[in-house]
Amino acid sequence: LGEPGVPEALAAAIAGARDSGRIAAPIVGGTAAVGTAEAVRNPATGAVVGHVIEADADTVDAAVAAARAAQGDWSLAGGAFRAERLERAADLLEERDALFLGLAIDEAGKTLVDAVAEVREAVDFLRYYAAQARADFTYPIALPGPTGERNELILEGKGVFVAISPWNFPLAIFLGQVSAALAAGNAVLAKPAEQTPLIAHAAIELLLEAGVPAEVLAFLPGRGETVGAALTGHDDIIGVAFTGSTEVARAINRSLAARDGPIATLIAETGGANAMIVDSTALPEQVARDAVASAFQSAGQRCSALRLLCVQEDVAETMIDMVAGAMAELNIGDPAILATDVGPIIDAEAQANIAAYIAEARAAGRVIAQAARTDWPAGGTFVPPTMIRLDHVTDLKREIFGPVLHVATWKGGELDALIDAINASGYGLTLGVHTRIDGVAAHVAARAAVGNVYVNRNQIGAIVGSQPFGGRGLSGTGPKAGGPHYLHRFAEEKSISTDITAAGG
Ligand code: NAD
Repeated sequence: LGEPGVPEALAAAIAGARDSGRIAAPIVGGTAAVGTAEAVRNPATGAVVGHVIEADADTVDAAVAAARAAQGDWSLAGGAFRAERLERAADLLEERDALFLGLAIDEAGKTLVDAVAEVREAVDFLRYYAAQARADFTYPIALPGPTGERNELILEGKGVFVAISPWNFPLAIFLGQVSAALAAGNAVLAKPAEQTPLIAHAAIELLLEAGVPAEVLAFLPGRGETVGAALTGHDDIIGVAFTGSTEVARAINRSLAARDGPIATLIAETGGANAMIVDSTALPEQVARDAVASAFQSAGQRCSALRLLCVQEDVAETMIDMVAGAMAELNIGDPAILATDVGPIIDAEAQANIAAYIAEARAAGRVIAQAARTDWPAGGTFVPPTMIRLDHVTDLKREIFGPVLHVATWKGGELDALIDAINASGYGLTLGVHTRIDGVAAHVAARAAVGNVYVNRNQIGAIVGSQPFGGRGLSGTGPKAGGPHYLHRFAEEKSISTDITAAGG
């Protein structure tokens, strides 16, 4: 920051909010737990950003017990009471945006543009779920019934919910899950991703400061296989809101099923193998712009990121050349610099896996373009955006969570076979279509087995309340985050029927 184009006041505010002395300690009942602190590192530079203390088994048990005891009152307090607190948290988040922008950049490797979008989305989630809590969880919903009867439906919190989040939206998804579960009247045990505990810790402090009772919100940082598994295997939880890989969602499903506790709800938002279908009428400049943004923004570390560009054969050469040209313009490097388009990969392990995948494709002669290596910081974990040719769309077998775009071609007259082959991957998150024929766009949208379709635009980003987001199949359970039905999945329904003809009724 401090680069041309970044307002000086913003750069100064972010610099002023930096504090490498931050420790993301577990918080139970409003009190921080002690333990051994481990360093959290900046993926762009390797510098220490702060420290984290993993929650131990006793802390997890204490958090579950406190949450269980306090949840009923929180639910009975009503939607308006809870909404007030979430709205206050949204105000505080806006006031302290510099702290959160700095942490998104330093801890998660977000570019400034991505970091701003992240904070904005987190604020939107808080306000959206608060509004829903007010509307749906404050009054009984009157239902029609026979004369002489009053029939009502009430929504209540389910119990103790676990929220398990990924590092790639360490504030927006983390707060989105936590605030939805709270808004619906649940107590929440929040486990952030290993890589991004600091920003999550700051978010929990904010919610507590905004008046969310300490007993209904615990912060339990740590590894998935220890803290995550202890939480999802606990008999006293009633649900898990999970965002992360498909593989871990399966492990959580197994863990929930093996318990003696009540049948638990799993709300899972998982990986994608997102395709973009481009026909011969599409505008090449627009395709290049949208494909490059969708595949490489956030270094491809978005569940919605474009993985597979499917270009109609007769325009393939032009389209691929245009995309390669746009890739050559990308600046890769320190996300704290405004000119950077593509920041780091989250850690060395992820970087090594993606690099090995690209090396294998290169050995097979399939790498058709790669962005030039620029002058990125020495201690960082970077991978240059890369385009890989596939013979057929079904050759993409799994999610590669990084800046890798696969390209395959298709023949005119085979559109349905193409859509069916894309559907056959089993993932069902996003699908993009670029065409100037309205009927083609509508046909693709209808036949695609995905949660989000994007027509003639980039296929990343989801606006809370306008573009509810989430997939199906291997990509998740639904309902869509930021949509009108999400909160209800966190709630229990109670039907109350009263005979109003009875004496005094
Ligand atoms: P991950 O699955 O490795 O980890 C996610 C979370 O699960 C972390 O907090 C981790 O500690 C925890 N975890 C790991 N093992 C666990 C276990 N056995 N029990 C309980 N918890 C466990 O995912 P990630 O690398 O953090 O994030 C990237 C993945 O998230 C990608 O697959 C991406 O597509 C997906 N994602 C999906 C969406 C969506 O909305 N569909 C959004 C963002 C990310």
